Amino acid sequence: TRTSNVAIDDIISEAVEVASYSIRSSDIALSVHLEPGLPPIWADPDQLGQVVINLLVNAEQALHGWDGRRTITVSTRLHPTTGNIVVSVADTGPGIPKEILPRIFEPFFTTKEIGSGTGIGLSFCHRIVQSHGGTIEVESPEGGGSTFILSLPASERLD
Ligand code: ADP
Ligand code: MG
Repeated sequence: TRTSNVAIDDIISEAVEVASYSIRSSDIALSVHLEPGLPPIWADPDQLGQVVINLLVNAEQALHGWDGRRTITVSTRLHPTTGNIVVSVADTGPGIPKEILPRIFEPFFTTKEIGSGTGIGLSFCHRIVQSHGGTIEVESPEGGGSTFILSLPASERLD
């Protein structure tokens, strides 16, 4: 697949479409907030779409059997100082225990049963985001919920 100037809205809309059937049938509320007028990013849309899908699948899996609020929120914004495009995928699940936080981006690290997780999702996300000149971080405060935050530089190319 190829790299071009792409609209983050299109990448997110497509990823949400792929993941939303399963999310909604799991009785999870999904909301998407796209900041209007964001600049394009220089990206491989298939790879970046796969990153967003992986984060949505993880969020959905985190909410399986979760008794509390069951919400996934995807949002975009422009970082006020860096001008980067910031994409966040947040869930209201149990969160990520502090002890394992440093390991979740490692290849093959998983806490899921054999068959439901391979541990490659987040390492893939990390590699793809890095190859786009961006960063991926996670916030998982005491008390639950996880937010994955992608920061991607705006494109400086004219195509
Ligand atoms: P997998 O989903 O196959 O286990 P990942 O690389 O996608 O592999 O994720 C690694 C681990 O990070 C998961 O097994 C889980 O422990 C943790 N994790 C990832 N996303 C979330 C989330 N949204 N909520 C809670 N834990 C998560
Ligand atoms: Mg995963």
